[in-house]
Amino acid sequence: DDVLWCHDLYRFYRSGDEETLALRGVSLRVARGEVVAVVGPSGSGKSTLLACLAGLDEPDGGAVTLGGERVSHRPEAERARIRSRRLGVLLQYGNLVTHLSVRANIQLVQARAKGERPAPDDLLEQVGLRERASALPRELSGGELARAGLAVALSNDPDVLLADEPTGELDGRTEQVVLDLIRARAGDGRGVLLVTHSPAVTGIADRVITLSDGRIAA
Ligand code: ADP
Ligand code: ADP
Repeated sequence: DDVLWCHDLYRFYRSGDEETLALRGVSLRVARGEVVAVVGPSGSGKSTLLACLAGLDEPDGGAVTLGGERVSHRPEAERARIRSRRLGVLLQYGNLVTHLSVRANIQLVQARAKGERPAPDDLLEQVGLRERASALPRELSGGELARAGLAVALSNDPDVLLADEPTGELDGRTEQVVLDLIRARAGDGRGVLLVTHSPAVTGIADRVITLSDGRIAA
């Protein structure tokens, strides 16, 4: 019952006669209800892995499924359809369109996703931002921005939430609020995969995977 699965992922980068093997046979799974953290030094392949899992980059070898649907080695239109139904992505530097209000950002994602979607104001209620629905991203504090980003990432009610340093530079208390919300997501029977350097973030994970030089080291 995996919401996210990848098997034997390989990714090469070639620039001139330089070749980098960014991923060398990475296999992992995230089960329903599970939070998995990926850690590793800079250059170990975390960003490449996240992009392949999100269906934003195409691995040179191996396979990825999201919510049971294969996303690797399919045309971009198919990948986009699967992403819009199955996946939420949360990035450190924000996933909001700057000239749209928080509510309009949610509506923008929802316009592309089909099926059941939570009401924007209910999503904002969950992250404690109901009264900030009409605010623009630049009018929000760092903590509010992180919570707005989470509301946007969850606005298609995704099976899988992928997050890259989801709490960035937040202070401890605000970080915990965001982490509790992410943890609750797995409690609702979804899956979460986090890429992070922060011990507070790995603290909410059921499992921690260490990448080293494009391989799973632990
Ligand atoms: P981290 O994920 O650890 O914060 P980054 O993803 O920013 O680190 O970068 C990791 C390494 O990958 C760096 O050495 C960076 O120069 C390299 N890198 C990232 N993107 C590219 C790219 N598009 N072309 C070449 N090198 C890149
Ligand atoms: P991390 O996120 O853990 O820092 P990355 O996935 O960014 O690692 O990078 C893994 C390896 O692939 C590094 O050696 C990096 O320099 C290289 N790399 C990443 N992106 C590119 C790219 N677009 N072109 C060339 N090399 C890249």
